[in-house]
Amino acid sequence: MFWLGIVFVSAFLVLLVGAITQAVWIQRHIRHPRTVMALIVLASLVAIPASLSIALAEPDHFVGWAQYVIGAQTIFLVGITVVVFALRHPTIQPPKVRRVLAIGAHPDDLELACGGSLARFADEGHEVMAIVMSHGANGGRDEVRENEARLGADTLEVASVSVQDFTDTKMATEMERMVKVIELAVELFKPDVILTHSEHDQHQDHHAVHLATLRAGRRSSTILCYESPSATRDFAPNYFVDVAPYMDAKVAAVKRHKDQAGKPYMGAKVLRGAAVFRGSQARTEQAEGFEVVRALSSGLGDL
Ligand SMILES: [Zn+2]
Repeated sequence: MFWLGIVFVSAFLVLLVGAITQAVWIQRHIRHPRTVMALIVLASLVAIPASLSIALAEPDHFVGWAQYVIGAQTIFLVGITVVVFALRHPTIQPPKVRRVLAIGAHPDDLELACGGSLARFADEGHEVMAIVMSHGANGGRDEVRENEARLGADTLEVASVSVQDFTDTKMATEMERMVKVIELAVELFKPDVILTHSEHDQHQDHHAVHLATLRAGRRSSTILCYESPSATRDFAPNYFVDVAPYMDAKVAAVKRHKDQAGKPYMGAKVLRGAAVFRGSQARTEQAEGFEVVRALSSGLGDL
């Protein structure tokens, strides 16, 4: 009985010291760490004096209640072990679904710049929402271009697309209203990642959408800027998405924009060539490049 008392004192001391010194470990690996630590401290406060009294008692004067104390302590120790096991964080976390908000100035911008990435995100189970800021009336027939934007998004399997009515080529004059529209989308959709035009883009609408997104997404953790055909030579990607398996989907989505067919940057050869070039920069087969405005690791995850 003496030795049993010593064993229990030692076990609870180990738990107590462990709870105090391994506080960080407990915080990281156990859900509700405070509950577990409080349980250990409480159990120790009761069990250590009880065990000591058994350990220090003369064997001849050993009393029957010690059996119950030892029994209760055994249950305590097993109970704490079970609780710790039940509340542990699983080692492999299930993949987190991320919400990706992609914003483009004109109906074909998203397909051209980041169509492969959007198809990839959709296939990986992430939720993708697209906003097209205009019907593109200046560069084509606006009555068909809105529908083509929807067809393109469907091809990429983007979950939802919203086509707005800002004035093609004059978006910079509608900055306040654009910021409000994007702000509302950010508020409702709560994106983990926002994709938008780059500041290194010579199209005035692209530039305006970039600025509007940065203002509307001022509280968002992760903003990446994609590469449009009108990007300038200053566009310098530092984040890449491997799109090799998604280039067929990208080419098909771009082809849905029949109204724009014939423009030099719409061809499959150009799209694939650009992907190979960005891929070589990322040491992979084919990629789309992005400029990081800022990126939070938990927002990006394995995107
Ligand atoms: Zn555009």
